[in-house]
Amino acid sequence: MPREYTLEKTRNIGIIAHIDAGKTTVTERILFYTGKKHKIGEVHEGEAEMDWMEQERERGITITSAATTCFWAPRGEETEKCRINIIDTPGHIDFTAEVQRSLRVLDGGVVIFDGVAGVEPQSETVFHQAEKFKVPLIGFINKMDRTGADFYVDLASIRERLTKNAYPVQLPIGAESNFLGEVDLLVEKAFIYKDDLGKEVEEIEIPDNLKKDSEKYRAELIEAIVQHDENLMNKYLAGEAIELADLKRVLRQATINNEIMPIMCGSALKNKGVQKLLDAVCDYLPSPLDVPPVKGFHPKNEETLEERKADDNEPFAALAFKIAVDPFVGKLCFFRVYSGNLEAGSYVLNSSTARKERIGRIVRMHANHREEVEAVYAGEIAAAVGLKGTFTGHTLCDENRPIVLESIVFPEPVISVAIEPKTKADQEKMGLALQKLAEEDPTFKIKGDEETMQTIISGMGELHLEVLVDRMKREFKVEASVGKPQVAYKETIKALAEAEGKYIRQSGGRGQYGHCWLKIEPKARSEGFEFVDEVKGGIIPREYIPAIQKGVKEAMDKGVVAGYPLIDLKCTVYDGSYHEVDSSEAAFKIAGSIALQEAVKRANPILLEPIMSVEVITPESFMGDVIGNLNSKRGQIEEMRDRGQMKVIDAKVPLAEMFGYATELRSMTQGRASYNMEFDRYTEVPANVAEVIKGEKVKRS
Ligand code: GDP
Repeated sequence: MPREYTLEKTRNIGIIAHIDAGKTTVTERILFYTGKKHKIGEVHEGEAEMDWMEQERERGITITSAATTCFWAPRGEETEKCRINIIDTPGHIDFTAEVQRSLRVLDGGVVIFDGVAGVEPQSETVFHQAEKFKVPLIGFINKMDRTGADFYVDLASIRERLTKNAYPVQLPIGAESNFLGEVDLLVEKAFIYKDDLGKEVEEIEIPDNLKKDSEKYRAELIEAIVQHDENLMNKYLAGEAIELADLKRVLRQATINNEIMPIMCGSALKNKGVQKLLDAVCDYLPSPLDVPPVKGFHPKNEETLEERKADDNEPFAALAFKIAVDPFVGKLCFFRVYSGNLEAGSYVLNSSTARKERIGRIVRMHANHREEVEAVYAGEIAAAVGLKGTFTGHTLCDENRPIVLESIVFPEPVISVAIEPKTKADQEKMGLALQKLAEEDPTFKIKGDEETMQTIISGMGELHLEVLVDRMKREFKVEASVGKPQVAYKETIKALAEAEGKYIRQSGGRGQYGHCWLKIEPKARSEGFEFVDEVKGGIIPREYIPAIQKGVKEAMDKGVVAGYPLIDLKCTVYDGSYHEVDSSEAAFKIAGSIALQEAVKRANPILLEPIMSVEVITPESFMGDVIGNLNSKRGQIEEMRDRGQMKVIDAKVPLAEMFGYATELRSMTQGRASYNMEFDRYTEVPANVAEVIKGEKVKRS
């Protein structure tokens, strides 16, 4: 089966917004207008589809999956039909890993602004993340029908707080309850919506009262466009007319290069402006051919860099970006094909695990149905059913031309809370629910605490865990109460030490006899645990060595100083003794555990804490307060930069000091500042702080 849509006509986009700005409504309307059944004029069928969506919504089912495919013919030109894949982006920006993984696989985005609220702190954060990943954007000022909506105030706030490169390509006609349509600044016409579904649109001359503004903003726009093309600039300077097609071509290029952000407006709820937005997605956002080739390295050698172009004839390479559980088909693995093609039933290499996987069925998700396809091609997004060993961030590729794509790196969780089911019935469901959620999210982990019999969940931040607990309630109907968040401290050693472990009981009956000598040495951060057997001449029989290792590992997991897991050390067993009759695996395990605990006490043990990279984006006027506050949190300021109209402060701050920072920052800056936080590394806890932590641990146990 050949590809149905050319790469030029493919768009992989995300809809990015502050919560409540209208992401769901815009997405619904996009799916409505692009609905296969819909033809202009057939209002009833259209309504049915809309009803269906509203029902789905009422039942609490999200109509958008991790990626939804739809089709759009700009300006009704059937020959130009685009395939648009909408990739879901998380509403909460705090999940850095989630955001990064969705930004990684999309080529362009639409940022939705609330026409009344304008730029909200969270839209700022999203915007800057997208900027960092060089994702080209179109801005859509939504809710133009709401009381208080003001396009020009919003535009000013976008220019002040996000980017000077924001240029309207439309102006609204009327506002609030009198919002009727838009002026298109490029074609110099006005469009008025005639019916409630926004399907009948009348084209008229620009109304007199908008002529002056239209001229002003068109002049600004054209001046901005011609900056990016010498030819057009010359024409412009010579006062010659410039063709519409040329303006659009250069505007497209400037948008793709992140040099212009086109601004549009509408009201998703009142069905106004969404079709034009779809036209703009096709006109100005990049196709997979417009973005640089994806980069990676050879699995056997990280030094050998590899590249794959968006081309069906290149070797196959794809990135798995989301695992989701579908009620009908089970585990779905969403992936983006960067190069080559993939047929259902074929084998691929998962270069992240070095295992081969068979691709069973391949499906593409549409608004209201699942389409099974035989093959997928470069630049496409699809989901595979039945991939057991593939998880988010893994690369799938041609085994003869292996590549590991720049992976999405998922850090170890840094914060944990105890979670308790409210009732017996909840208890049974909770395990299953947690397991499903953990499968979908690589930064979410579950563990049982043997001592307290509690379930401990860990993740990347307070909000991250809150949202997961909330999903458990909503999607799995499990009620649970949650303890206070705790920092996931670790222990390690700073010096070399040796110690003996003896477990000998010889009073009556069969005794116990385990005896070993261990040497432990520090390893560098994240080098992990290494166990070496240097026992000579059978002083300890072979079969007991694994038991010693097990005892060591168990003691490490329990921790020695303050009950946190020990990491990054090398342990060598080099001496000991045994007893013909009384020795057993159990006895050697205990001996190993005793020896390790003793050795750690002699090896200058320390506590490690997670340090976060914190990026605060704040107006200049609050900079002093923000920095002072970070300093008071044991923070180290690393850099201060300008970003658009804002100041960016980069700092390293211990996670323990960052609880509740969102609220603190909000009240310190009247809600104008926003921040991102990401795990950076584990470092030694200062001695005075370590004493407090040890004290707390003793109190708890
Ligand atoms: P999300 O949180 O970004 O997904 O936002 P939703 O799409 O759920 O919208 C949040 C609220 O704003 C809902 O009550 C919507 O009905 C409302 N809303 C969305 N778009 C518009 C609009 O264009 N005009 C008005 N007046 N309300 C809107």
